[in-house]
Amino acid sequence: MEMSPQLAPVRTSAIVQERVLKTAIPGPASLAMLERKQSAISSGVGMVMPVFVAAAGGGILVDIDGNSLIDLGSGIAVTTVGNAAPEIVRAITDQAELFTHTCFSVTGYEGYVAVSEALNRITPGTHPKKSALFNSGAEAIENAIKVARYFTGRQGVVAFDHAYHGRTNLTMALTAKSMPYKSGFGPFASDIYRMPMSYPYRDGNLSGPAAAEIAITQIEKQIGGSNLAAIVIEPIQGEGGFIVPAPGFLCRLAEWATENGVVFIADEVQSGFGRTGRLFACEHEGVIPDLIVTAKGIAGGMPLSALTGRAEIMDAPHAGGLGGTYGGNPLACAAALAALELYENGGLLERAREIGELLIGKLETLQARDARIGDIRGRGAMIAVELVNAETGDPDAALTSRVAAACHADGVVVLTCGTYGNVIRFLPPLAISDELLIDGLAVLAHALELS
Ligand SMILES: *Cc1c(COP(=O)(O)O)cnc(C)c1O
Repeated sequence: MEMSPQLAPVRTSAIVQERVLKTAIPGPASLAMLERKQSAISSGVGMVMPVFVAAAGGGILVDIDGNSLIDLGSGIAVTTVGNAAPEIVRAITDQAELFTHTCFSVTGYEGYVAVSEALNRITPGTHPKKSALFNSGAEAIENAIKVARYFTGRQGVVAFDHAYHGRTNLTMALTAKSMPYKSGFGPFASDIYRMPMSYPYRDGNLSGPAAAEIAITQIEKQIGGSNLAAIVIEPIQGEGGFIVPAPGFLCRLAEWATENGVVFIADEVQSGFGRTGRLFACEHEGVIPDLIVTAKGIAGGMPLSALTGRAEIMDAPHAGGLGGTYGGNPLACAAALAALELYENGGLLERAREIGELLIGKLETLQARDARIGDIRGRGAMIAVELVNAETGDPDAALTSRVAAACHADGVVVLTCGTYGNVIRFLPPLAISDELLIDGLAVLAHALELS
């Protein structure tokens, strides 16, 4: 096995919370690793930044060249409690010394039960709930659709413009954007219908109820409520551009779903677990979904996803109809229980709200002198800017790529998103310091000036 000489490993607790650039980004060690990546790994597996990480913690990623980068992405909203957070590391280590796997559908263990109990308790609504655990967000969404179809005996599923639900076959069909998620990978699953989304910045600030009525009329005319198993929606859209629907949009859709015996599924894979300043983004609107899908932030970086919802819906399928070899892995469950403790008692929700205020304040200052910042939106530590042509208001994807590239070169990990590729999103770990956020935004401001 080929191994490159590594720097002495840095323990997470010893990582200085400061941006430090020792080489160009990417540095020589990362460039050498990139060559190995290119010869060993499918070209279909892309990377936002060709940088390889040696250690991470707080708001810093340390790369194999010894550079300390500011992490404004949390590995896409996953390491919300912090990377290698000590509580998570301890929980994983303790569990690993007992057993690493049994397959829950062969012989059970308490972690899976305890995570399910916790999810049933903390997700919106006080009705009886049940859960099932899986590995990835896409897998949990697939299972949500399976359960909704089984329960209703219907097939149709509604998803929305700008939606992102994953890269498996069924979730590709639910996802809106062709490149890079779907193009060339068809045929896609049938009986999926796409409806217009409330997008206040680009739909003339249509009210939530008015936007919902447009979608509902189309559903009734094109599919018919009695043919519909489920509506699946992200309460704040992630990859689609951090679109926050106008107030009342989600409530009206949920209400219509109930009136028509349609299962309302909230995809909180990106927006859940404290990201928006509440445990779940649905709570901002008082929406109680029939089924809620969670993943990303659930287990401090361990692969785990969950489907939670009304007991009578979740109990519809026959035994053996749901499951998988690894779903609810014991190490992932131990990590999830430790993460949940941090979300509930570690002050993280308040921290998400503070981060949101800091980000929005700084971004509004930038917007006041730069008309290319068309919109600032989001909630808590899930904030984005939409970059546009200052004269026409058209999406400016080229500017967005230049700004992101300049941030990367200066040691700040930012992610882009949006159907039009013109959104820069901020998803910092909640363990990040104010100083790093301020430095990261100063780099962004500089990048905007240069671009
Ligand atoms: C990331 C994401 C998914 C897919 O999750 P994976 O774990 O990558 O399969 C689904 N829905 C939303 C909203 C996401 O952000």
